[in-house]
Amino acid sequence: MTEHAFPTAAEVGDLLKGFGVALPPQGMAARTPLTGQVLGHVDVDSPHDVTRKIGEAHAAFEHWRNIPAPQRGELVRVYGDLLRQHKVALGRLVSIEAGKILSEGLGEVQEMIDICDFAVGLSRQLYGLTIATERPGHRMMETWHPLGVVGIISAFNFPVAVWCWNAALALVCGDALVWKPSEKTPLSALVCQSLLQRAMAKVAGVPAGLSQLIIGGAEVGEVLVNDPRVPLISATGSTRMGRSVGPKVAARFGRSLLELGGNNGMIVTPSADLDLAVRAILFAAVGTAGQRCTTLRRLFVHTGIYDALMPQLSKAYAQVRVGSPLLPDTLIGPLIDKAAYTAMQTALEQAKAAGGKVQGGARQLVAQQPEAYYVQPALVEMPAQSEVMQHETFAPILYVLKYTDLAEAIKLHNAVPQGLASSIFTTDLREAEIFLSAAGSDCGIANVNIGPSGAEIGGAFGGEKETGGGRESGSDSWRNYMRRATNTINYSRALPLAQGVRFDL
Ligand code: NAD
Repeated sequence: MTEHAFPTAAEVGDLLKGFGVALPPQGMAARTPLTGQVLGHVDVDSPHDVTRKIGEAHAAFEHWRNIPAPQRGELVRVYGDLLRQHKVALGRLVSIEAGKILSEGLGEVQEMIDICDFAVGLSRQLYGLTIATERPGHRMMETWHPLGVVGIISAFNFPVAVWCWNAALALVCGDALVWKPSEKTPLSALVCQSLLQRAMAKVAGVPAGLSQLIIGGAEVGEVLVNDPRVPLISATGSTRMGRSVGPKVAARFGRSLLELGGNNGMIVTPSADLDLAVRAILFAAVGTAGQRCTTLRRLFVHTGIYDALMPQLSKAYAQVRVGSPLLPDTLIGPLIDKAAYTAMQTALEQAKAAGGKVQGGARQLVAQQPEAYYVQPALVEMPAQSEVMQHETFAPILYVLKYTDLAEAIKLHNAVPQGLASSIFTTDLREAEIFLSAAGSDCGIANVNIGPSGAEIGGAFGGEKETGGGRESGSDSWRNYMRRATNTINYSRALPLAQGVRFDL
C-alpha cells in the first residue's frame, strides 16, 4: 500500500480491503477533508432497512441478555485484541476521514482499546446493593438487568471512540447495538463494524444481529430515535441535534443520553505556571483544529499576568504547523468542510464587530488543496464576553478576556448556555478548591493545571446545561445501559407490611 500525505481513493480502497470492507460503485459519497475529494461511495439505509435492523438487534438482545456478563466480556476482550492488531490502519483511516493528526487518530483507537479493557473488567463488577430492610425475615437488594437495544448516534469529530465507549459498555451490560455514525465519517464505521463481526465469529454463543450499522443522515437517525424498541438513545453531536432528539425520545418515555456541544473555558490566575499554561492552552485550543467538544474556546487571564502570557501565546500560535494531518510535523489538519470554514469566518467577523482584536484565522494551502479548508488558528482578544462567545463555533478560535477578581472570572466562565469542560491554572490551593467547589465551575469536567480537553476513559464524561447532562465512558456510567430492579424477599412465615400498615381480616 502506498501512503501519501494526501490520500487517494485507491489507497483508501486498499486500506478498506485489509478490513474486508468493499464499497459499492454508487451511493452516498464518502469524502476526505484532507483534499475534499470523494474516496468512494456507501449504501444508505432506507427507513425500512433501519426498522428491519432494529428488529434483528432486538431478536439478538433476547438471546444475549441471558449470557452471563463475564462471557459477554469475552466478546469485548476479543474485540479489543483485534483493535490492537489493527490500530495503525484504523488510526490512519480516522485521520483521513475526520482530518485529525495521525497521533490523534491513533489516540482515538487507543481510547477504544482502553474502554474495551475497562468493560471487560466491568463485566465481573455489575454490582447491585444489598439494602437493610425494616421487616424481619426479609432481604432487600437491587439487581441490574440488560436494557435492550441501544441506539448510538455519533458525531464526525470522534468517529470511532465515542461509539466504542457506548458499544463496549452496552455489550457487557447485555444490550444489542444499532449505530448511526455521522454521514461525514461512514468508512471508519464500516471498519469498526467489520472488526466487531470478526470478533463475534470468534466467540461462541454470540447471536447474529447483535450489532447493526445504519448509514445516512439525520432522517436515518430519526427512524432510530422514534422506534419504541430502542429504550436508550445515546446521541453525541450538536445542541441543535439534541434539541430535536431529546423531546422525541422523551415523548415515547425512552431514555436519552445526550452528549452535546461545549463552550469550554480556562482561568489563568496570577500564581499560574505560565509555561505549563501556554502549552496546555495551545493543545486545548488548536488541537484537532478546534473540532473537539472539549476544545478550549474562552480564556480568562488575570490582568496582572496578561502582558506576560499573551506574547508567549501569540508566539506559539505563529509557530503552529498547518497541513496534511498524515505528516509527522503537522499539528493542525483541515476543518471538516466548507460550512465549518464559513462558520469560522462569520464568527471572526462578529468578534471584530464587537471590538475583538484578531490574530490568525486565514485560510491556508488554498493553491495546493482548493477543495479543502485548512486554516491558521485564531486568537481573539475581546473587550467583553459578547454574543459570539455564547455559541460553540466548531473551529480553532480562542477568545481571550482579562479579569481582576476570581469570583468575577468564575461568574463569567459560567455565564454561557453550555457546561462541558473547564479548567483553572493556579498554584494557589484556595483558588483551585474554589474553582472545584459547589460555587465554582458549573461544568461536568473541571480540571486544575491541565486543559479542558483530552479526557481519560476512567472518568464519567459529559456536561451540564445545553451539553445535555449525559455521562458516558468510565466510573458508574454503565448504569445508563441497564435497568434496575429492587427485589424484596420474604424468608419468614409472617407477612409484615411496610410502615407498620395492618391489613388483617
Ligand atoms: P451534528 O449534530 O451535526 O451530527 C451528529 C450526529 O447526529 C450525526 O450522526 C447526525 O447525522 C445526527 N443527527 C443530526 N440531526 C439529527 C436528528 N434530528 N435526528 C437524529 N440524528 C441526527 O454534529 P457534528 O457536526 O457531527 O459534530 C460536532 C458537534 O458534536 C459539536 O457540537 C460537538 O461539540 C459535539 N460533540 C459533543 C461531544 C460530547 O461528548 N459532548 C463529543 C463529540 C462531539
